[in-house]
Amino acid sequence: MDKVKELFNIINNSHKIVFFTGAGISTDSGLSDFRHIYSKSYKGIKPENILTKGFLEKYPDIFFKFVKDYFLIKTKPNVTHEVIADISNKTDKDVCIITQNIDGLHQKAGSKLVLEIHGSINKWYCTDCKKPFSMDDIQNLDSLKCQEDDCNGFIRPNIILYNENFNPMILRACKHKLEEADTLIIAGTSLRTLLAYEIVKHFKGKTVFINHPLKKSLPKKMDLEIYDDISNVFEKLRDLENEENYFL
Ligand SMILES: [Zn+2]
Repeated sequence: MDKVKELFNIINNSHKIVFFTGAGISTDSGLSDFRHIYSKSYKGIKPENILTKGFLEKYPDIFFKFVKDYFLIKTKPNVTHEVIADISNKTDKDVCIITQNIDGLHQKAGSKLVLEIHGSINKWYCTDCKKPFSMDDIQNLDSLKCQEDDCNGFIRPNIILYNENFNPMILRACKHKLEEADTLIIAGTSLRTLLAYEIVKHFKGKTVFINHPLKKSLPKKMDLEIYDDISNVFEKLRDLENEENYFL
């Protein structure tokens, strides 16, 4: 059977689905894949050294410029975000998205339950007075110094930087959703991070893996593996949905 048709059947036969998504699903919205960002230095500095709290406090201007260049880009959801939102909104399936992405595109596409394990680039706050800032506010700023009543505090994005801990509440919610789910669909991540690897390894239900061909091995044998362009897969899935006129 065609693999996408198989995926379609798995979705139709599932009741509680967790999608686990990574940067690969947003590249068709114009965002750079991390592999691309991390493969070169930025002004002579390694990106993983820029995205740390210490760097942000010491060199806020370079941090801000870097984030502006790579992350503060106005983007729209693509077919993958849209089909995932359809599955949660047009069926009575219980759908939860656990995402490594900080771009907020799942929510823009209409998905309601999104657990952002690395936080969101759309939410910023002053570390001193706690004033929140939107992405639009931030785009109009020249520096990351808070001007509120001469506060002068640092403004930072609500994302998990390197060497920072994950939010335990989000992790608990992920664990709970994974325990009750019957299907886990992984899309656009090579499961390089330890957390992603562990999540997938311990999942007990049906597991589907969709990504470009990988060099490294997966944490376990998947029930279905699709190695293809991700937008292609979801485009075909949308065609099947239209043809058969349903996700059940
Ligand atoms: Zn402030």
